Amino acid sequence: MSDKYDVIVIGAGPGGYVAAIKAAQLGLKTACVESWTSEDGKSQVLGGTCLNVGCIPSKALLEVTHKFEEASHDFDGFGIQTSGVKIDVAKMMERKGGIVKQLTGGIAGLFKANGVTSIHGHGKLLAGRKVEVTDKDGKTSTYEADNVIIATGSKPIEIPPAPFDGEYIVDSEGALEFPEVPKRLGIIGAGVIGLELGSVWARLGAEVTVLEAQDTFLPAVDQQIAKDLLKQFQKQGLNIITGARMTGAEVKRKLVNVTYEDSKGKQEAKFDKLIVAVGRRPYTDGALAEDSGVSMDERGFIFVDDNCKTEAPGVWAVGDVVRGPMLAHKASEEGVVVAERIAGHKPQVNYDCIPNVIYTTPEVAWVGKTEEQVKADGEEYNVGTFPFAANGRAMAANAASGMVKIIADAKTDRILGFHVSGPQASEIVAQGVIAMEFGSSAEDLALTCFAHPTLSESVHEAALAVAGGAIHVANRRKKK
Ligand code: FAD
Ligand code: AMP
Repeated sequence: MSDKYDVIVIGAGPGGYVAAIKAAQLGLKTACVESWTSEDGKSQVLGGTCLNVGCIPSKALLEVTHKFEEASHDFDGFGIQTSGVKIDVAKMMERKGGIVKQLTGGIAGLFKANGVTSIHGHGKLLAGRKVEVTDKDGKTSTYEADNVIIATGSKPIEIPPAPFDGEYIVDSEGALEFPEVPKRLGIIGAGVIGLELGSVWARLGAEVTVLEAQDTFLPAVDQQIAKDLLKQFQKQGLNIITGARMTGAEVKRKLVNVTYEDSKGKQEAKFDKLIVAVGRRPYTDGALAEDSGVSMDERGFIFVDDNCKTEAPGVWAVGDVVRGPMLAHKASEEGVVVAERIAGHKPQVNYDCIPNVIYTTPEVAWVGKTEEQVKADGEEYNVGTFPFAANGRAMAANAASGMVKIIADAKTDRILGFHVSGPQASEIVAQGVIAMEFGSSAEDLALTCFAHPTLSESVHEAALAVAGGAIHVANRRKKK
Protein backbone atom coordinates (compact mmCIF):
# COMPACT_ATOMS: atom_id res chain seq x y z
CA MET A 1 0.00 0.00 0.00
CA SER A 2 1.24 3.48 -0.86
CA ASP A 3 2.23 5.64 2.10
CA LYS A 4 0.42 8.68 0.70
CA TYR A 5 -3.01 9.49 2.15
CA ASP A 6 -5.66 12.12 1.58
CA VAL A 7 -6.00 12.45 5.35
CA ILE A 8 -3.86 11.35 8.28
CA VAL A 9 -5.34 11.83 11.75
CA ILE A 10 -3.03 11.84 14.79
CA GLY A 11 -4.92 10.56 17.85
CA ALA A 12 -7.92 8.21 18.04
CA GLY A 13 -10.02 9.85 20.77
CA PRO A 14 -13.55 11.10 20.03
CA GLY A 15 -12.06 13.97 17.99
CA GLY A 16 -9.68 11.85 15.93
CA TYR A 17 -11.54 8.59 15.41
CA VAL A 18 -14.75 10.37 14.41
CA ALA A 19 -12.83 12.60 11.98
CA ALA A 20 -11.16 9.52 10.46
CA ILE A 21 -14.44 7.63 10.02
CA LYS A 22 -16.18 10.66 8.49
CA ALA A 23 -13.26 11.35 6.14
CA ALA A 24 -13.30 7.72 4.94
CA GLN A 25 -17.08 7.86 4.48
CA LEU A 26 -16.56 10.90 2.25
CA GLY A 27 -14.30 8.83 -0.01
CA LEU A 28 -10.96 10.09 1.29
CA LYS A 29 -8.08 7.68 1.73
CA THR A 30 -7.59 7.93 5.50
CA ALA A 31 -5.20 6.69 8.17
CA CYS A 32 -5.36 7.24 11.93
CA VAL A 33 -2.24 7.09 14.10
CA GLU A 34 -2.68 6.14 17.77
CA SER A 35 0.07 5.38 20.28
CA TRP A 36 -2.05 3.95 23.16
CA THR A 37 -0.97 0.38 23.89
CA SER A 38 -2.72 -2.28 25.97
CA GLU A 39 -1.35 -3.12 29.42
CA ASP A 40 0.21 -6.34 28.12
CA GLY A 41 2.07 -4.23 25.54
CA LYS A 42 0.68 -6.25 22.68
CA SER A 43 -2.07 -4.29 21.00
CA GLN A 44 -3.22 -0.82 20.06
CA VAL A 45 -6.04 0.78 22.08
CA LEU A 46 -8.42 3.17 20.33
CA GLY A 47 -10.92 5.62 21.85
CA GLY A 48 -8.61 8.01 23.69
CA THR A 49 -9.28 9.53 27.08
CA CYS A 50 -13.05 9.43 26.69
CA LEU A 51 -13.47 5.71 26.21
CA ASN A 52 -10.53 4.47 28.27
CA VAL A 53 -10.14 6.75 31.28
CA GLY A 54 -12.79 9.44 30.95
CA CYS A 55 -16.46 9.69 30.04
CA ILE A 56 -17.26 5.99 29.77
CA PRO A 57 -15.50 4.44 32.80
CA SER A 58 -16.63 7.33 35.01
CA LYS A 59 -20.24 6.86 33.92
CA ALA A 60 -19.97 3.10 34.48
CA LEU A 61 -18.96 3.78 38.10
CA LEU A 62 -21.56 6.54 38.55
CA GLU A 63 -24.36 4.23 37.36
CA VAL A 64 -23.37 1.38 39.68
CA THR A 65 -22.85 3.57 42.72
CA HIS A 66 -26.17 5.35 42.12
CA LYS A 67 -27.92 1.98 42.12
CA PHE A 68 -26.00 0.97 45.23
CA GLU A 69 -27.10 4.11 46.99
CA GLU A 70 -30.71 3.56 46.00
CA ALA A 71 -30.59 -0.04 47.14
CA SER A 72 -28.97 0.95 50.44
CA HIS A 73 -31.13 3.96 51.32
CA ASP A 74 -34.25 4.22 49.17
CA PHE A 75 -35.54 0.71 48.46
CA ASP A 76 -37.05 0.43 51.91
CA GLY A 77 -39.26 3.43 51.19
CA PHE A 78 -40.39 1.80 47.92
CA GLY A 79 -41.52 -1.29 49.79
CA ILE A 80 -38.63 -3.37 48.50
CA GLN A 81 -37.00 -5.22 51.35
CA THR A 82 -33.27 -5.73 51.13
CA SER A 83 -30.73 -6.42 53.76
CA GLY A 84 -26.97 -6.36 53.90
CA VAL A 85 -26.48 -4.55 50.58
CA LYS A 86 -22.76 -4.68 49.88
CA ILE A 87 -20.51 -3.37 47.15
CA ASP A 88 -17.97 -5.63 45.48
CA VAL A 89 -15.48 -3.03 44.23
CA ALA A 90 -13.48 -5.57 42.20
CA LYS A 91 -16.61 -6.70 40.36
CA MET A 92 -17.68 -3.11 39.74
CA MET A 93 -14.25 -2.42 38.21
CA GLU A 94 -14.38 -5.59 36.15
CA ARG A 95 -17.73 -4.53 34.69
CA LYS A 96 -16.32 -1.07 33.91
CA GLY A 97 -13.34 -2.70 32.16
CA GLY A 98 -15.68 -4.89 30.11
CA ILE A 99 -17.67 -1.88 28.87
CA VAL A 100 -14.47 -0.03 27.94
CA LYS A 101 -13.12 -3.07 26.10
CA GLN A 102 -16.32 -3.55 24.16
CA LEU A 103 -16.46 0.08 23.06
CA THR A 104 -12.78 0.46 22.17
CA GLY A 105 -12.93 -2.81 20.24
CA GLY A 106 -16.00 -1.42 18.48
CA ILE A 107 -13.94 1.46 17.08
CA ALA A 108 -11.44 -0.99 15.62
CA GLY A 109 -14.42 -2.64 13.92
CA LEU A 110 -15.71 0.70 12.63
CA PHE A 111 -12.27 1.56 11.23
CA LYS A 112 -12.29 -1.74 9.36
CA ALA A 113 -15.85 -1.31 8.10
CA ASN A 114 -15.14 2.20 6.83
CA GLY A 115 -11.72 1.45 5.37
CA VAL A 116 -9.67 3.57 7.80
CA THR A 117 -6.06 2.36 8.08
CA SER A 118 -5.06 2.18 11.73
CA ILE A 119 -1.37 2.85 12.41
CA HIS A 120 -0.01 1.94 15.85
CA GLY A 121 2.69 4.31 17.09
CA HIS A 122 3.56 7.83 18.18
CA GLY A 123 2.85 10.36 15.43
CA LYS A 124 4.88 13.50 14.83
CA LEU A 125 3.95 16.16 12.31
CA LEU A 126 6.91 17.18 10.18
CA ALA A 127 7.05 20.08 7.73
CA GLY A 128 5.14 19.63 4.48
CA ARG A 129 2.30 17.47 5.87
CA LYS A 130 4.53 14.49 6.52
CA VAL A 131 3.85 12.35 9.58
CA GLU A 132 6.61 10.34 11.21
CA VAL A 133 5.38 7.37 13.22
CA THR A 134 7.57 5.67 15.83
CA ASP A 135 6.33 2.21 16.81
CA LYS A 136 6.72 0.56 20.22
CA ASP A 137 10.06 -0.96 19.18
CA GLY A 138 11.43 2.46 18.17
CA LYS A 139 11.17 1.86 14.42
CA THR A 140 10.11 4.93 12.43
CA SER A 141 8.09 5.17 9.22
CA THR A 142 7.10 8.34 7.38
CA TYR A 143 3.77 8.92 5.69
CA GLU A 144 2.55 11.77 3.54
CA ALA A 145 -0.88 13.33 3.37
CA ASP A 146 -2.73 16.17 1.67
CA ASN A 147 -4.33 16.93 5.02
CA VAL A 148 -3.33 16.18 8.60
CA ILE A 149 -5.72 16.42 11.54
CA ILE A 150 -4.12 16.70 14.98
CA ALA A 151 -6.36 15.27 17.70
CA THR A 152 -3.87 14.51 20.46
CA GLY A 153 -6.20 15.49 23.31
CA SER A 154 -5.29 16.47 26.84
CA LYS A 155 -3.73 15.24 30.09
CA PRO A 156 -4.52 16.01 33.74
CA ILE A 157 -2.79 19.10 35.11
CA GLU A 158 -0.20 18.26 37.76
CA ILE A 159 0.51 21.03 40.27
CA PRO A 160 3.81 21.40 42.17
CA PRO A 161 2.29 21.27 45.71
CA ALA A 162 0.77 17.84 45.00
CA PRO A 163 2.75 15.76 42.51
CA PHE A 164 1.03 12.51 41.49
CA ASP A 165 2.56 9.37 43.01
CA GLY A 166 0.11 6.90 41.49
CA GLU A 167 -0.92 5.51 44.88
CA TYR A 168 -1.90 8.18 47.41
CA ILE A 169 -1.99 11.33 45.27
CA VAL A 170 -3.69 10.50 42.01
CA ASP A 171 -5.27 12.07 38.95
CA SER A 172 -8.71 11.19 37.56
CA GLU A 173 -7.32 8.03 35.99
CA GLY A 174 -6.07 6.75 39.35
CA ALA A 175 -9.40 7.66 40.94
CA LEU A 176 -11.20 5.34 38.53
CA GLU A 177 -9.04 2.45 39.75
CA PHE A 178 -9.06 2.53 43.56
CA PRO A 179 -9.03 -1.13 44.65
CA GLU A 180 -11.14 -0.35 47.72
CA VAL A 181 -13.21 2.49 49.12
CA PRO A 182 -10.89 5.02 50.79
CA LYS A 183 -12.04 5.95 54.28
CA ARG A 184 -11.15 9.63 53.95
CA LEU A 185 -10.91 11.00 50.43
CA GLY A 186 -9.65 14.49 49.59
CA ILE A 187 -10.33 16.09 46.25
CA ILE A 188 -8.66 19.25 44.97
CA GLY A 189 -10.96 21.10 42.58
CA ALA A 190 -14.77 21.22 42.58
CA GLY A 191 -15.01 21.05 38.80
CA VAL A 192 -16.97 18.48 36.81
CA ILE A 193 -14.42 15.69 37.26
CA GLY A 194 -13.88 16.35 40.99
CA LEU A 195 -17.62 16.32 41.69
CA GLU A 196 -18.34 13.20 39.61
CA LEU A 197 -15.51 11.17 41.14
CA GLY A 198 -16.29 12.52 44.60
CA SER A 199 -19.87 11.32 44.17
CA VAL A 200 -18.74 7.82 43.14
CA TRP A 201 -16.68 7.26 46.27
CA ALA A 202 -18.99 9.15 48.66
CA ARG A 203 -21.88 6.89 47.59
CA LEU A 204 -19.75 3.91 48.56
CA GLY A 205 -19.08 5.32 52.02
CA ALA A 206 -15.95 7.46 51.73
CA GLU A 207 -15.85 10.67 53.76
CA VAL A 208 -15.24 13.12 50.96
CA THR A 209 -13.80 16.63 51.33
CA VAL A 210 -13.52 18.81 48.23
CA LEU A 211 -11.24 21.85 48.40
CA GLU A 212 -12.03 24.52 45.82
CA ALA A 213 -9.89 27.65 45.44
CA GLN A 214 -12.61 29.84 43.97
CA ASP A 215 -15.24 31.44 46.20
CA THR A 216 -18.05 30.75 43.78
CA PHE A 217 -19.24 27.16 43.47
CA LEU A 218 -19.49 26.06 39.80
CA PRO A 219 -19.12 29.54 38.29
CA ALA A 220 -19.97 28.23 34.79
CA VAL A 221 -23.37 26.98 36.00
CA ASP A 222 -26.43 29.24 36.33
CA GLN A 223 -26.08 30.37 39.94
CA GLN A 224 -29.74 29.77 40.88
CA ILE A 225 -29.08 26.13 40.04
CA ALA A 226 -25.52 26.01 41.44
CA LYS A 227 -26.62 27.32 44.86
CA ASP A 228 -29.29 24.64 45.12
CA LEU A 229 -26.80 21.99 44.00
CA LEU A 230 -24.28 22.94 46.64
CA LYS A 231 -26.94 22.36 49.31
CA GLN A 232 -27.88 19.00 47.83
CA PHE A 233 -24.26 17.82 47.55
CA GLN A 234 -23.59 18.89 51.16
CA LYS A 235 -26.66 16.87 52.21
CA GLN A 236 -25.22 13.85 50.40
CA GLY A 237 -22.13 14.13 52.60
CA LEU A 238 -19.79 15.85 50.15
CA ASN A 239 -17.96 18.37 52.31
CA ILE A 240 -17.30 21.08 49.71
CA ILE A 241 -15.14 23.94 50.97
CA THR A 242 -14.98 26.91 48.60
CA GLY A 243 -12.34 29.64 48.88
CA ALA A 244 -9.84 26.94 49.97
CA ARG A 245 -6.57 26.91 48.06
CA MET A 246 -4.47 23.80 48.51
CA THR A 247 -0.85 24.73 49.21
CA GLY A 248 0.83 21.39 49.88
CA ALA A 249 0.39 17.63 50.09
CA GLU A 250 2.80 15.20 51.67
CA VAL A 251 2.50 11.46 52.17
CA LYS A 252 3.53 10.26 55.63
CA ARG A 253 2.75 6.89 57.16
CA LYS A 254 0.27 6.01 54.41
CA LEU A 255 -1.68 9.26 54.90
CA VAL A 256 -1.79 12.35 52.73
CA ASN A 257 -1.31 15.46 54.84
CA VAL A 258 -2.81 18.39 52.99
CA THR A 259 -2.31 22.05 53.81
CA TYR A 260 -4.65 24.69 52.46
CA GLU A 261 -5.57 28.29 53.03
CA ASP A 262 -9.08 29.60 53.42
CA SER A 263 -10.63 32.80 54.80
CA LYS A 264 -9.70 31.69 58.33
CA GLY A 265 -6.02 31.17 57.48
CA LYS A 266 -3.82 28.08 57.25
CA GLN A 267 -5.62 24.73 57.60
CA GLU A 268 -4.61 21.08 57.59
CA ALA A 269 -6.41 17.87 56.70
CA LYS A 270 -5.48 14.18 56.51
CA PHE A 271 -6.72 11.81 53.83
CA ASP A 272 -6.20 8.19 52.84
CA LYS A 273 -6.25 9.22 49.16
CA LEU A 274 -6.09 12.55 47.39
CA ILE A 275 -7.47 13.17 43.91
CA VAL A 276 -6.07 16.22 42.17
CA ALA A 277 -8.71 17.36 39.67
CA VAL A 278 -7.69 20.93 38.87
CA GLY A 279 -8.24 20.72 35.13
CA ARG A 280 -6.57 19.31 32.03
CA ARG A 281 -3.90 20.67 29.73
CA PRO A 282 -3.64 20.30 25.97
CA TYR A 283 -1.28 17.46 25.06
CA THR A 284 1.19 17.84 22.19
CA ASP A 285 4.31 16.24 23.69
CA GLY A 286 6.57 15.09 20.86
CA ALA A 287 3.79 15.56 18.30
CA LEU A 288 5.06 18.62 16.44
CA ALA A 289 8.44 19.06 14.77
CA GLU A 290 9.90 22.53 15.25
CA ASP A 291 9.37 23.36 11.59
CA SER A 292 5.84 21.87 11.41
CA GLY A 293 4.42 25.37 10.96
CA VAL A 294 1.81 24.83 13.68
CA SER A 295 1.80 27.40 16.48
CA MET A 296 0.38 27.31 19.98
CA ASP A 297 -1.12 29.90 22.29
CA GLU A 298 0.40 30.80 25.67
CA ARG A 299 -1.49 27.96 27.40
CA GLY A 300 -0.27 25.32 24.96
CA PHE A 301 -3.46 24.97 22.90
CA ILE A 302 -2.83 24.56 19.17
CA PHE A 303 -3.83 27.82 17.54
CA VAL A 304 -6.73 27.39 15.10
CA ASP A 305 -9.32 29.57 13.38
CA ASP A 306 -13.09 29.17 13.73
CA ASN A 307 -12.96 26.14 11.42
CA CYS A 308 -10.10 24.34 13.18
CA LYS A 309 -7.45 25.30 10.60
CA THR A 310 -3.95 25.74 12.00
CA GLU A 311 -1.45 28.18 10.57
CA ALA A 312 0.21 25.39 8.52
CA PRO A 313 -1.54 24.81 5.17
CA GLY A 314 -3.49 21.55 5.12
CA VAL A 315 -3.06 20.99 8.87
CA TRP A 316 -6.10 21.03 11.13
CA ALA A 317 -6.57 20.44 14.87
CA VAL A 318 -9.65 19.37 16.84
CA GLY A 319 -10.79 18.45 20.34
CA ASP A 320 -9.16 19.08 23.70
CA VAL A 321 -5.93 20.21 22.05
CA VAL A 322 -7.65 23.38 20.76
CA ARG A 323 -9.66 26.20 22.41
CA GLY A 324 -13.21 25.64 23.62
CA PRO A 325 -14.78 23.28 26.14
CA MET A 326 -12.93 20.02 26.79
CA LEU A 327 -15.85 17.76 25.92
CA ALA A 328 -16.02 14.59 23.86
CA HIS A 329 -19.00 15.70 21.77
CA LYS A 330 -17.33 19.05 21.00
CA ALA A 331 -14.25 17.12 19.82
CA SER A 332 -16.40 14.86 17.62
CA GLU A 333 -18.35 17.79 16.15
CA GLU A 334 -15.08 19.45 15.19
CA GLY A 335 -13.80 16.18 13.73
CA VAL A 336 -16.85 15.86 11.47
CA VAL A 337 -16.72 19.49 10.36
CA VAL A 338 -13.02 19.25 9.49
CA ALA A 339 -13.49 16.03 7.50
CA GLU A 340 -16.38 17.63 5.61
CA ARG A 341 -14.36 20.78 4.92
CA ILE A 342 -11.49 18.68 3.58
CA ALA A 343 -14.03 17.02 1.26
CA GLY A 344 -15.07 20.46 0.00
CA HIS A 345 -18.23 21.06 2.04
CA LYS A 346 -18.66 24.13 4.25
CA PRO A 347 -20.28 23.17 7.58
CA GLN A 348 -19.49 24.94 10.84
CA VAL A 349 -19.56 23.99 14.49
CA ASN A 350 -22.20 26.00 16.33
CA TYR A 351 -20.22 26.69 19.48
CA ASP A 352 -23.26 28.42 21.03
CA CYS A 353 -25.18 25.14 21.11
CA ILE A 354 -22.78 22.72 22.82
CA PRO A 355 -24.40 21.08 25.85
CA ASN A 356 -22.59 20.65 29.16
CA VAL A 357 -23.38 17.92 31.67
CA ILE A 358 -22.32 17.05 35.20
CA TYR A 359 -23.36 13.45 35.95
CA THR A 360 -23.94 13.84 39.67
CA THR A 361 -27.22 13.30 41.54
CA PRO A 362 -29.03 15.36 40.58
CA GLU A 363 -27.55 15.61 37.11
CA VAL A 364 -26.92 19.11 35.85
CA ALA A 365 -27.04 20.04 32.18
CA TRP A 366 -27.22 23.25 30.25
CA VAL A 367 -26.85 24.86 26.87
CA GLY A 368 -26.51 28.54 26.05
CA LYS A 369 -26.15 31.39 28.48
CA THR A 370 -26.65 31.50 32.23
CA GLU A 371 -28.79 34.24 33.74
CA GLU A 372 -25.57 35.89 34.96
CA GLN A 373 -24.17 35.95 31.41
CA VAL A 374 -27.39 37.32 29.91
CA LYS A 375 -27.43 40.05 32.56
CA ALA A 376 -23.76 40.88 31.98
CA ASP A 377 -24.47 41.17 28.23
CA GLY A 378 -27.14 43.76 29.05
CA GLU A 379 -29.88 41.77 27.30
CA GLU A 380 -33.53 42.07 28.33
CA TYR A 381 -34.91 38.67 29.12
CA ASN A 382 -37.69 36.61 30.64
CA VAL A 383 -37.19 33.52 32.77
CA GLY A 384 -39.44 30.51 33.21
CA THR A 385 -38.69 27.81 35.77
CA PHE A 386 -40.46 24.61 36.75
CA PRO A 387 -39.46 22.44 39.72
CA PHE A 388 -39.35 18.64 39.42
CA ALA A 389 -41.09 18.65 42.83
CA ALA A 390 -44.28 19.39 40.85
CA ASN A 391 -43.66 16.68 38.24
CA GLY A 392 -45.51 13.39 38.77
CA ARG A 393 -43.03 11.24 36.90
CA ALA A 394 -40.12 12.65 38.92
CA MET A 395 -42.02 11.87 42.12
CA ALA A 396 -42.69 8.33 40.92
CA ALA A 397 -38.99 7.95 40.22
CA ASN A 398 -38.07 9.28 43.70
CA ALA A 399 -36.10 12.05 42.00
CA ALA A 400 -38.21 15.13 42.52
CA SER A 401 -35.41 17.63 43.06
CA GLY A 402 -34.05 20.37 40.83
CA MET A 403 -35.72 22.30 38.04
CA VAL A 404 -35.87 23.27 34.40
CA LYS A 405 -35.03 26.92 33.74
CA ILE A 406 -35.47 28.62 30.38
CA ILE A 407 -34.16 32.09 29.64
CA ALA A 408 -35.61 33.85 26.60
CA ASP A 409 -35.00 37.19 24.90
CA ALA A 410 -37.66 39.65 26.12
CA LYS A 411 -38.28 41.06 22.64
CA THR A 412 -37.96 38.08 20.30
CA ASP A 413 -38.69 35.28 22.83
CA ARG A 414 -35.75 33.36 21.30
CA ILE A 415 -34.25 30.90 23.79
CA LEU A 416 -30.92 32.17 25.12
CA GLY A 417 -30.26 29.58 27.80
CA PHE A 418 -31.70 26.21 28.84
CA HIS A 419 -30.76 24.75 32.21
CA VAL A 420 -31.74 21.53 33.93
CA SER A 421 -30.85 20.07 37.29
CA GLY A 422 -32.64 16.89 38.15
CA PRO A 423 -33.37 13.38 36.91
CA GLN A 424 -32.12 12.60 33.38
CA ALA A 425 -30.94 16.19 32.92
CA SER A 426 -28.30 14.87 30.49
CA GLU A 427 -31.08 13.54 28.24
CA ILE A 428 -33.54 16.41 28.75
CA VAL A 429 -30.97 19.04 27.75
CA ALA A 430 -31.06 17.66 24.18
CA GLN A 431 -34.49 19.25 23.85
CA GLY A 432 -32.96 22.65 24.59
CA VAL A 433 -30.10 22.00 22.17
CA ILE A 434 -32.51 21.11 19.36
CA ALA A 435 -34.73 24.09 20.14
CA MET A 436 -31.78 26.48 20.15
CA GLU A 437 -30.26 24.96 16.97
CA PHE A 438 -33.60 25.59 15.25
CA GLY A 439 -33.73 29.17 16.58
CA SER A 440 -36.86 28.32 18.54
CA SER A 441 -38.74 30.70 20.81
CA ALA A 442 -39.93 29.72 24.27
CA GLU A 443 -43.45 29.92 22.84
CA ASP A 444 -42.56 27.26 20.22
CA LEU A 445 -41.83 24.87 23.10
CA ALA A 446 -44.91 26.06 24.98
CA LEU A 447 -47.09 25.24 21.94
CA THR A 448 -45.66 21.71 21.66
CA CYS A 449 -47.49 18.68 23.04
CA PHE A 450 -45.45 16.61 25.53
CA ALA A 451 -46.37 13.10 26.64
CA HIS A 452 -47.74 12.63 30.16
CA PRO A 453 -46.39 11.65 32.58
CA THR A 454 -42.81 12.45 31.61
CA LEU A 455 -39.90 14.38 33.04
CA SER A 456 -39.97 16.42 29.82
CA GLU A 457 -43.27 17.97 30.85
CA SER A 458 -41.09 20.16 33.07
CA VAL A 459 -39.57 21.60 29.88
CA HIS A 460 -43.07 22.36 28.62
CA GLU A 461 -44.06 23.98 31.89
CA ALA A 462 -40.84 26.05 32.11
CA ALA A 463 -41.47 27.26 28.54
CA LEU A 464 -45.05 28.16 29.50
CA ALA A 465 -43.72 29.92 32.59
CA VAL A 466 -41.53 32.22 30.45
CA ALA A 467 -44.75 34.04 29.51
CA GLY A 468 -46.31 33.51 32.94
CA GLY A 469 -48.54 30.66 31.77
CA ALA A 470 -47.37 27.54 33.61
CA ILE A 471 -50.28 25.30 34.58
CA HIS A 472 -48.96 23.13 37.38
CA VAL A 473 -47.19 25.75 39.44
CA ALA A 474 -48.06 29.28 40.55
CA ASN A 475 -46.53 31.70 38.06
CA ARG A 476 -44.06 34.26 39.21
CA ARG A 477 -43.24 35.82 35.90
CA LYS A 478 -40.02 37.77 36.12
CA LYS A 479 -39.55 40.43 33.46
CA LYS A 480 -35.95 41.60 33.54
P1 FAD B 1 -8.44 12.31 23.72
O1 FAD B 1 -9.68 11.58 24.02
O2 FAD B 1 -7.57 12.73 24.83
O3 FAD B 1 -7.66 11.45 22.66
C1 FAD B 1 -6.39 11.79 22.21
C2 FAD B 1 -5.72 10.53 21.72
O4 FAD B 1 -4.52 10.90 21.03
C3 FAD B 1 -5.30 9.59 22.83
O5 FAD B 1 -5.76 8.31 22.54
C4 FAD B 1 -3.76 9.64 22.80
O6 FAD B 1 -3.17 8.39 23.13
C5 FAD B 1 -3.49 9.97 21.35
N1 FAD B 1 -2.23 10.64 21.11
C6 FAD B 1 -1.76 11.75 21.73
N2 FAD B 1 -0.59 12.13 21.17
C7 FAD B 1 -0.33 11.23 20.19
C8 FAD B 1 0.71 11.10 19.24
N3 FAD B 1 1.70 11.99 19.16
N4 FAD B 1 0.67 10.06 18.37
C9 FAD B 1 -0.35 9.16 18.41
N5 FAD B 1 -1.36 9.25 19.28
C10 FAD B 1 -1.36 10.28 20.15
N6 FAD B 1 -16.36 14.63 28.18
C11 FAD B 1 -17.68 14.58 27.91
O7 FAD B 1 -18.11 15.13 26.89
N7 FAD B 1 -18.55 13.91 28.75
C12 FAD B 1 -18.13 13.30 29.87
O8 FAD B 1 -18.92 12.71 30.59
C13 FAD B 1 -16.74 13.34 30.19
N8 FAD B 1 -16.27 12.73 31.29
C14 FAD B 1 -14.94 12.74 31.54
C15 FAD B 1 -14.49 12.10 32.69
C16 FAD B 1 -13.14 12.09 32.98
C17 FAD B 1 -12.66 11.37 34.23
C18 FAD B 1 -12.21 12.72 32.09
C19 FAD B 1 -10.73 12.67 32.37
C20 FAD B 1 -12.66 13.35 30.95
C21 FAD B 1 -14.02 13.39 30.67
N9 FAD B 1 -14.54 14.04 29.55
C22 FAD B 1 -15.88 14.03 29.29
C23 FAD B 1 -13.65 14.77 28.61
C24 FAD B 1 -13.37 13.93 27.36
O9 FAD B 1 -12.79 12.72 27.74
C25 FAD B 1 -12.48 14.70 26.41
O10 FAD B 1 -13.04 15.96 26.13
C26 FAD B 1 -12.29 13.95 25.10
O11 FAD B 1 -11.71 12.69 25.33
C27 FAD B 1 -11.42 14.75 24.14
O12 FAD B 1 -11.25 14.04 22.96
P2 FAD B 1 -9.97 14.20 22.04
O13 FAD B 1 -10.18 13.32 20.88
O14 FAD B 1 -9.70 15.64 21.81
O15 FAD B 1 -8.74 13.70 22.92
P1 AMP C 1 -12.19 22.07 36.04
O1 AMP C 1 -11.28 23.04 35.33
O2 AMP C 1 -13.64 22.22 35.74
O3 AMP C 1 -11.71 20.65 35.93
O4 AMP C 1 -12.08 22.44 37.59
C1 AMP C 1 -10.87 22.47 38.29
C2 AMP C 1 -11.08 23.29 39.57
O5 AMP C 1 -9.91 23.18 40.40
C3 AMP C 1 -11.30 24.78 39.32
O6 AMP C 1 -12.54 25.15 39.86
C4 AMP C 1 -10.13 25.45 40.07
O7 AMP C 1 -10.53 26.66 40.69
C5 AMP C 1 -9.75 24.42 41.11
N1 AMP C 1 -8.35 24.54 41.60
C6 AMP C 1 -7.23 24.76 40.87
N2 AMP C 1 -6.11 24.79 41.67
C7 AMP C 1 -6.54 24.60 42.96
C8 AMP C 1 -5.88 24.52 44.26
N3 AMP C 1 -4.55 24.64 44.41
N4 AMP C 1 -6.66 24.31 45.37
C9 AMP C 1 -8.00 24.17 45.25
N5 AMP C 1 -8.66 24.23 44.06
C10 AMP C 1 -7.96 24.44 42.93
